[in-house]
Amino acid sequence: MQRVLLIATTTGYQTRTFSETATRLGVELLFATDRCHLLDDPWKDKALPVRFHEDVAFVKSVTELNERTPIDGVLGLGDRPAVFAALACEAIGLPGHPPAAARASGNKFETRQRFAAAGLPCPRFHLRGAADDEHIARSLEYPCVVKPLALSGSRGVIRADGPAELLTAVRRVRRLLSRGDIRERRHEADDHLVFEAFIPGREFAVEGVLENGQLQTLALFDKPDPMDGPVFEESIYITPSREPIDLQERIERAITTAASALGLSHGPVHAECRVNDSGIYVLEVAARPIGGLCARALRFQSRQGDVISLEELLLRHALGEPVSGYTREDAASGVMMIPIPRAGMYRRTERVDAARATPGVVDVVITAKPDQRLEPLPEGASYLGFIFARAEKASEAVTALRSAHATLQFVIDAPVPMA
Ligand code: ADP
Ligand code: CA
Repeated sequence: MQRVLLIATTTGYQTRTFSETATRLGVELLFATDRCHLLDDPWKDKALPVRFHEDVAFVKSVTELNERTPIDGVLGLGDRPAVFAALACEAIGLPGHPPAAARASGNKFETRQRFAAAGLPCPRFHLRGAADDEHIARSLEYPCVVKPLALSGSRGVIRADGPAELLTAVRRVRRLLSRGDIRERRHEADDHLVFEAFIPGREFAVEGVLENGQLQTLALFDKPDPMDGPVFEESIYITPSREPIDLQERIERAITTAASALGLSHGPVHAECRVNDSGIYVLEVAARPIGGLCARALRFQSRQGDVISLEELLLRHALGEPVSGYTREDAASGVMMIPIPRAGMYRRTERVDAARATPGVVDVVITAKPDQRLEPLPEGASYLGFIFARAEKASEAVTALRSAHATLQFVIDAPVPMA
């Protein structure tokens, strides 16, 4: 029986899908997580506890595990797990992204440096410590964007149109970074922030796998909602792209160059870029697949007509099977990550069934839990839920997503002051 090591910081829908898929394929899944205490059976006995800041201990335990029960493939879900997946591949001798590349892709300053060195279009960017706040506020060109070095999901990314706004934004990001839950997980325990010129334009996301340095694009997503700040919440992802094919190809080439500038070579990638008249600006190439429930928007078919999930495709890829025979299904498909409209206590969502009945809508999944404290961006790290749509044309899927979203009614009570 072949074995895949799945590394994750969350437990839930995606890990369950991996587990079910592995069972169906006759693959044994071993789970490495910092959440062992939260796992249900059947994981308990098979889960490898990890601390996502203890690289050396992790490499040791993976090596031992591999000696007892040889591992045939490794997958990491999330930015830190991607680094650990790379470490595991290196330790066991499996093809994977090099650890240094996975690290670079999770560091916004190093990413920029490498992109610039590779000749990719880049906004002006700087890395600055706290002592420089006043000075940098005066010396930047506006509009600009401030971001933490190593968070994800647009957390702490804020646009500022002038020095006063920038100083407010910087204070806000620093407050976020000083929170206990973030501080303890942060590797670079310093106060440096990245400042970049604001790149106007439309945004795209690419889901792919690298196979020995070659990018296989699994899906190119348009993001039809403008993302102009001051915060940058995700909403709709729609594929296939409605852009002309030559632009799509230029995007793929830019992502390939960006991935190789980071040193990424083998495994899943999720990339984002902004496009305007002066070029294609790659924002990031993460060494991991798309997060959470979004993968449900993707289905692939083999030449023989079998339909498989992204999870299955990734498991097969992790086991060394070529996946170039799989292409995304013909239908247009989209997902809306339902943004958190305001801070407060989440109570419930009304009219979910009506939203689900919207023509073209495949499913509406509310992931917020009753009595959960909701926090929007730039501090928050979650969505209210997800809406999925499929249609013949991309424009129809977008309409379905918007109309289902307009149907939903979120009941959120005013925030309870923190003690
Ligand atoms: P994260 O890893 O948290 O997602 P990103 O660097 O990808 O951080 O930034 C998050 C979002 O912020 C991007 O998807 C984009 O919409 C916006 N953004 C980031 N940098 C810039 C920039 N220089 N100009 C314009 N928008 C930006
Ligand atoms: Ca991003």
